[in-house]
Amino acid sequence: MFHDLCMMDSLSDYSSARYVLFGVPFDGTSSFRAGSRWAPDAMRKASANFETYNSYFDIDFEDLLIHDAGNFEPYSDVEKTLEELFFAVEPIVKDGKIPIMMGGEHSLTYPCVRACAKHVSEDIGFVVMDAHFDLREEYGGVKFNHACVSRHILNDITDKYVTIGVRSGPREEWEFAKDNGVCYYTPDIVREKGVKTVLAEALEHLDCDKIYLSLDMDALDPSFAPGLGTPEPFGLTDVEVRDIIRILAPMSIGFDVVEISPEYDGGQTALLGTKLLREFIAAHAAANR
Ligand code: MN
Ligand code: MN
Repeated sequence: MFHDLCMMDSLSDYSSARYVLFGVPFDGTSSFRAGSRWAPDAMRKASANFETYNSYFDIDFEDLLIHDAGNFEPYSDVEKTLEELFFAVEPIVKDGKIPIMMGGEHSLTYPCVRACAKHVSEDIGFVVMDAHFDLREEYGGVKFNHACVSRHILNDITDKYVTIGVRSGPREEWEFAKDNGVCYYTPDIVREKGVKTVLAEALEHLDCDKIYLSLDMDALDPSFAPGLGTPEPFGLTDVEVRDIIRILAPMSIGFDVVEISPEYDGGQTALLGTKLLREFIAAHAAANR
């Protein structure tokens, strides 16, 4: 991995870093509007907008050990990409660091969760914010399509699974979720109960100390995040997603922001995704001072 464009305030070298950022410019299975391959660099550019100081957490990014490892070079084939990405992420986890991926499409989350799960002794939970269930067994004949990521994580890695923001899927996916006791929260439920109540319930359901947290940006309402591969109205607000991240970051051992498609807006989705990524780091660092 090598790159000249850098996430602001990632001043650490790899060996002393606590947080290791990397981009994966891959959107090979994207079904509607491709283009998330451009997101990692759009996020790095957007990061120049932000101050190093986070007043809510009283955290200065200049004091944190963040390393930007550049972009992983994907293959044209999705399975090969996922396989090699696993081997790229595994050493980061093994070295006791927090991997933070800037996608790319959502299929890329699978090897990141697998790498994290492999190196913790206890069961890890998987919490995902997404407009979609991503619970299909396969899509368009492709097993590792981005519309299937949660199904494979659920099948292969952990059944400690919660999805927040879901509001779109064929009848079969809703039925699958109900029949299999999948813990899901639509934006309507989040609004009705509030983020704190939802997360208290979710954590009880997960019953574990460590999670991997994944943000498919289409969890957000397209009015906040219009630059997406598959925008879906009536989503979560920016503040709801921020609050979910603030609460869950301290127990997270890995994080990603995926599915931003920067060519479909004037830069605001990359800006918001980057801010949320920085909020994750600040919340994690504040809890683990
Ligand atoms: Mn997704
Ligand atoms: Mn989605």
